[in-house]
Amino acid sequence: MVETYVFGHKSPDSDSITSSIVMANLENELGNSEAKAYRLGSINKETEFILDYLGMDAPELLESIEDGANVILVDHNSPAESVDNLENANILKVVDHHKLALATSYPLFLRFEPVGCTETILCKLYEENGVEITKEIATLMLSAIISDTLLLKSPTTTEDDKAAVEKLSQIAEIDAEEYGLEMLKAGTDLSSFSIDEILSLDAKQIDFKNVKSIVNQVNTADISDVMTMKDELEEGMSNIIDEEDLDLFMLLITDIVNSNSQVIALGKYSCLVEKAYGVILENNTVLLEGVVSRKKQVVPIMTESA
Ligand code: MN
Ligand code: MN
Repeated sequence: MVETYVFGHKSPDSDSITSSIVMANLENELGNSEAKAYRLGSINKETEFILDYLGMDAPELLESIEDGANVILVDHNSPAESVDNLENANILKVVDHHKLALATSYPLFLRFEPVGCTETILCKLYEENGVEITKEIATLMLSAIISDTLLLKSPTTTEDDKAAVEKLSQIAEIDAEEYGLEMLKAGTDLSSFSIDEILSLDAKQIDFKNVKSIVNQVNTADISDVMTMKDELEEGMSNIIDEEDLDLFMLLITDIVNSNSQVIALGKYSCLVEKAYGVILENNTVLLEGVVSRKKQVVPIMTESA
């Protein structure tokens, strides 16, 4: 049987890594294909915490794929965020919770739901197909839902996510609150990263209409901790703006405990942040109260204002 490559987006987060593993397992359990999970970048600290907790190895790194390779995409569908040469791959399935950004010339299996995490959809797919959710699979699913919804506090959280957390924490025998906070905090440890690494950890290239932008999000338990690096961060951001000819670079420093984000905005369209949120940037920065979700509280508002 030909191998199927299963992977999430570049700059992988916990959802992309765990969903690849969980989806590959589902495919194998159902005998649909010989599926194997891959990653498109290095593992972040939070994901490392999850894999260490389970004593699991990270999926293999995938640099590119051959023409005609069978692939399954999870936690993304935009070719810009995907593997190189995706246009020549044979996409079998997509399971995702982002907006549709993919067009193919052939039919394929698509499962999109506007929920907080890909794993919430995968949890349903296991149930629908009568595949057992083991303790290990439940832990992977639960971890990603906690990560993507910031412990069910993000506005992206739905009733389905809450129900999944309830069910999965029982199977995994995990106190979601306690484990979740420990996991999220592990993900905020930036001490071993260079400025360039911090600026690419969770960076997404997003165009707000014609405004070519990068929006990068860094989680922290203490905003002032990250702001001590403001000068170095701004220097790195300016370099990336020059190199990639960007109109805007937004760095969201998200306080996972109090659910706010400090934004640093640079580039010739940094005024778009002021317009979108009705705020004034002082020294390129301002606190956006209650903003924690790039997908729900940044992309639509910034696009609207562009
Ligand atoms: Mn993701
Ligand atoms: Mn996700």
